[in-house]
Amino acid sequence: MENYYLVGSPVGHSLSPAMMNLSFAHAGIDARYGLIDAVEHDLPAVVDRLRKDASGWNVTMPDKHAMSLLCDELSPAARIGGSVNTVKNDNGHLTGHTTDGTGFMNAVREAGFPVPGKKLTLLGSGGAAGAILIQAALDGASEISVFCNRPSSREHVHAIREKLREYSETQIRIFGYQPEDSLREEIQSSDILINATNIGMNTGRSSGPVCLIPDASFLHPQLFVYDIIYHPAKTPLICMAEENGIRAEGGLSMLIGQGAESFRIWTGCQMPLPEVRSLLLSKLPQ
Ligand code: NAP
Repeated sequence: MENYYLVGSPVGHSLSPAMMNLSFAHAGIDARYGLIDAVEHDLPAVVDRLRKDASGWNVTMPDKHAMSLLCDELSPAARIGGSVNTVKNDNGHLTGHTTDGTGFMNAVREAGFPVPGKKLTLLGSGGAAGAILIQAALDGASEISVFCNRPSSREHVHAIREKLREYSETQIRIFGYQPEDSLREEIQSSDILINATNIGMNTGRSSGPVCLIPDASFLHPQLFVYDIIYHPAKTPLICMAEENGIRAEGGLSMLIGQGAESFRIWTGCQMPLPEVRSLLLSKLPQ
C-alpha cells in the first residue's frame, strides 16, 4: 500500500482525506491518505521519515514555504512563489509543486473563461492570490491588476513581479484600494475579477467589510467574477454579481481543481470530479 499525507497545522478540519481517499478507491489504487500535524520546526524530521515512507504529500499552512526549502527540485511556479503544496517522492528525490494556481486556471477554464490573452483584476496578495498571479502570468494572461491592502503586501507582489519577468510578458500593475477610481477603471477594462482575499468569508462578523467592491456599478455585464472562498458558497460579492446578471462562481471548483492537480502529479490519473464534488458538498456546512 502507498502512503500519502497532508502536512500542516491544524489539519483536523481538512476535506483532503475524503477527496483523495475517494479518488484512490475510484482509480483502483491501493493507497491511503492521512494527516500529519506539524509546524515548521518539525518539518526536517517529518520529511526525513516521509522520504522513506510516502509516495507524496500535500502541504498546508503554516508549512508551505518551509517545505519549499526541503525539496530537491521545484516546479517554476513553486520556485517563483517560494511555496509548495504538493510533493512527489520518486525513490527519495522530492519534487515540490504548487497547485492552487493550476486549480484556479482549470476552474475558470471549465466555467468558459480561459485566462490566456485576458485581463484580470486580482484582489489580494496572500498565499492564494500569489499562486493565482504566478500561474496566470505563466499561462499568458495579457494584464493583471493586483489590489493590495497593506504596504508590505504591495512589496511582496512587487517581488513576485520581478521574479516573473524571466518567464512571462504579462503586464502586472499594483494598486491600493484607495482612491476607488483605480479599482473601478481596472475592473471596467477586465475580463475576469477574482476575489482572493478572505473578505466575504466571515459574513457573520459585526465589523469590517464583507465585500471589497463598493457597489455593482463597479462591475460590467461581460465580466466573469470568481470568488475563491468556498464557504459560504455565495459570498456577498457573488450575490452582488448575480443580482445584476453577471456570471459568478465560488471557490469550490478551485479547491477540487488543486486537489485534482496533486492527484494527477502523483498518479497520472484523473480525479473523478463529479463524485468528489458531491462528496465535498455533503461535507461542507450548509
Ligand atoms: P492569506 O494568505 O491570509 O491572505 C489573505 C488576503 O486577504 C491578504 O491579501 C490580505 O491582505 C487580504 N485582506 C485581509 N483583510 C483585508 C481587508 N480588510 N481589506 C483588503 N484585503 C484584506 O490567506 P489565503 O491563504 O491567501 O486565503 C485567502 C482566502 O482564500 C481564504 O478565505 C481561504 O479560505 C481561500 N482559499 C481558497 C482556496 C480554494 O481552493 N478555493 C485555496 C486557498 C485559499 P493584507 O495581508 O495586505 O492585509
